[in-house]
Amino acid sequence: LRIGTFDMNELIRQRVIKFEDKINKKKIEVSVILYDKKIKVKGDRDRIDQVLTNLMDNAIKFVNEGGKIEVKTEIKDDRVLVSVFNNGPPIPKDDIKYIWDRFHKGDKSRTKGGGTGLGLSIARQIINRHNQTIWVESGEKGTKFTFTLEIV
Ligand code: ADP
Ligand code: MG
Repeated sequence: LRIGTFDMNELIRQRVIKFEDKINKKKIEVSVILYDKKIKVKGDRDRIDQVLTNLMDNAIKFVNEGGKIEVKTEIKDDRVLVSVFNNGPPIPKDDIKYIWDRFHKGDKSRTKGGGTGLGLSIARQIINRHNQTIWVESGEKGTKFTFTLEIV
């Protein structure tokens, strides 16, 4: 890792813009709800950008046409919580413990083509190497992935 400091909110803004075409094509309603000040975090900016990219990529892939995505930052103690939510069908309960495994893509009805099944395993590896955590909550309202980083 190349640990440095960067503004988490700024990274999110830049990353979301790069998904604009895909977002528009699928008529997704995106809300970006950022903590109202700079959030200076400690981490490898490029790797964290990769985590965000993998989560956004999934959210866009698994949300229905015309659906909703919410990207959010919140402060809790000395951490920032970064979450990416999409509405749509939940991840089946039997599946949820395997989604972090390499090459796991769920059953054929949910793979939505394309993917390698590596995105989440890479995301988890990057966050673990930062000594931070990443988790998922999935239910009737949709699916939300959250990871933490240390604020400096
Ligand atoms: P890929 O995107 O290549 O399929 P990932 O590692 O990114 O692989 O994700 C693994 C699996 O987890 C996906 O194939 C899908 O079954 C499930 N998954 C990930 N993100 C979501 C999401 N936002 N909504 C529903 N299912 C998801
Ligand atoms: Mg993926």
